[in-house]
Amino acid sequence: MHVAEQRADSSPVHGAMEDTPLMRELTRDHARRRKLEGIQFHRPDSTRIITVSNQKGGVGKTSSTVNLAAALSMGGLEVLVIDADPQGNTSTALNIEHHADVPSIYEVLVESASLAGVVQPVPDMEHLYCAPATINLSGAEIELVSLVARENRLRNAIRDYLDHREQEGMSRLDYVLIDCPPSLGLLTVNALVAAREVLIPIQAEYYALEGLSLLLNNIELIRQHLNPELVVSSILITMYDTRTRLAAQVAQDVRDHFPDTTLETTIPRSVRISEAPSYGQTVLTYDPSSSGALAYRAAAYELNTRPAP
Ligand code: ADP
Ligand code: MG
Repeated sequence: MHVAEQRADSSPVHGAMEDTPLMRELTRDHARRRKLEGIQFHRPDSTRIITVSNQKGGVGKTSSTVNLAAALSMGGLEVLVIDADPQGNTSTALNIEHHADVPSIYEVLVESASLAGVVQPVPDMEHLYCAPATINLSGAEIELVSLVARENRLRNAIRDYLDHREQEGMSRLDYVLIDCPPSLGLLTVNALVAAREVLIPIQAEYYALEGLSLLLNNIELIRQHLNPELVVSSILITMYDTRTRLAAQVAQDVRDHFPDTTLETTIPRSVRISEAPSYGQTVLTYDPSSSGALAYRAAAYELNTRPAP
């Protein structure tokens, strides 16, 4: 009798293990690790500007922005992260100084400062840069109302910055990722006007799709009036918990509604992802072999290999 058969016969535990959540996770991570071996990211034809948006708080916008950005930059691509959320969580996670006196996106949006003057290199991360948010940005939502071209200010700033880099002979940026606040106010509008693509993180929880039509309606309005090129290019399912049937149902629901847009990769619920920011790190450097790091690398690769809209 073959060893495998023997084991299958004599160890009912083995059979039962196959379909436990733990076993599924190990199998998934193993497959991901294999798939990520020796992969190469490619430079897009032109700078891809992607806004990460969902007016719900706590769905994984910031985690996705910083970890996707880190994964892309570790793949050798030039990546700028713009923190457009007054809470500054993205700046914290990337270990970027952002106390009230630091020049930030506030000065860019409200005082027409140049992005070149606020962008900082992310410590210990080659190819990764961040334009921070400070607490001042919380006033911008109101201050912007009375300014000219109030919806276009971030777009213009990014355009000038890309030109500036070219004139200065600096490397061309491959990706600009913009993290949004959990609202649909003028900061989010600026981010949506500045981008060509929207990435929507959706938490694999009950009510996941609730509120999504509001976001999609807003995006449609912006497309009609302010930014005809805007498309929702990716939906990323986050905080996926393999132990619950609910997560699988929600994920299926999202895929049924948006079959082409939803990324194949889901981001698992992982303590490592939530711990990393308190060390001023992304999960990719904090624990590179964790399931969270693998997932964000796989998602970044998917983002990179899918054709840009
Ligand atoms: P948002 O920017 O949409 O408000 P965050 O990325 O800040 O969402 O995530 C909300 C909270 O959930 C944070 O405390 C974060 O650390 C945690 N979190 C995010 N993604 C995961 C995940 N995949 N697993 C576990 N915790 C996560
Ligand atoms: Mg956030």
